[in-house]
Amino acid sequence: MVKVMSRILISVLLIWFSTANRALTEAPKVVVDIAPVHSLVSMVMKGVGEPTLIIPANASPHDYALRPSAAKALQNADIIFWMGSSLTPWLDRATTTLMKDAQMIALLDTEDTIILEVRDELTFDADHGDHEEHKDHDENDEHKDHVSEHKDGHDHHGIDPHAWLSAKNASVWLSVIAAHLSEIDPKNKETYKTNAAVGQKDITDLATDISKTLSGVQGRSFIVYHDAFQYFENDFNFTAAGSISPSDAAPVSPARIAAIRSMIEKEGIDCILSEPQYSQGLIQSVSSGTEVNLGIIDAIGAGITIGPDLYDTLMRNMAKTFADCF
Ligand SMILES: [Zn+2]
Repeated sequence: MVKVMSRILISVLLIWFSTANRALTEAPKVVVDIAPVHSLVSMVMKGVGEPTLIIPANASPHDYALRPSAAKALQNADIIFWMGSSLTPWLDRATTTLMKDAQMIALLDTEDTIILEVRDELTFDADHGDHEEHKDHDENDEHKDHVSEHKDGHDHHGIDPHAWLSAKNASVWLSVIAAHLSEIDPKNKETYKTNAAVGQKDITDLATDISKTLSGVQGRSFIVYHDAFQYFENDFNFTAAGSISPSDAAPVSPARIAAIRSMIEKEGIDCILSEPQYSQGLIQSVSSGTEVNLGIIDAIGAGITIGPDLYDTLMRNMAKTFADCF
């Protein structure tokens, strides 16, 4: 009798465990491109599950080789939230071959997102004639393919992909993320909705605090490694004087470096900011012999623990870096 009872008990426990396990694995398998998107999706998924990040925050998303573990995550994904092909054209190609039928949500393409054009005036082109020539071909599709391949680094006429650095966009995307997750996982709909609303309130507070931190930076001149901070500048009403590399972080010509050096000398640049994802060498070569302040600014989250709090820390760190450099 005791034996039978214990057998029944074991069976009941086994059934209970397997059900509990199934409940855990039922969270949708969500994959994201960069750490700030991981943070926003983590905010919305709090209490349900965690997304998988495929590009670590210390690497440049513009040029990254997908790890086997990331390729596997893409293969098994139910849904992917990513910025879009203008940030990671290589990821677009990878997902075409890897993915089965997961949804791909390009946040840059979602409604109400603030979209800014790539800034030509910050790119100090030495070969402007060549650049004009590209404009003439813009209408034809062959050229579009050519541009998206980044073969020659001329991506001047596209959109600036660094849109996560607008707190307004982050707020819009929380709703977008909650809506898409609710579609594939309706039983957690209320959780996603509530989490998104909490995140939006936090982002409003964040933007208020950043405005205070940046109150002294308007009108000051700074140069960044690559033109990644336009959305942040646009939200908080200040502007970079230039960037060493354009917004796709393409390689830089010696002529361009010379142009930037002369700009630093002539225009009274107050601050030059390098980025942890890129080599410091070029920053040193444009700033050597000048008395410009140097700082390090991070648009992605290198060294910050990934998760729901990363976005807030990233944005506050950026504001503080700008404020401290002047
Ligand atoms: Zn970038």
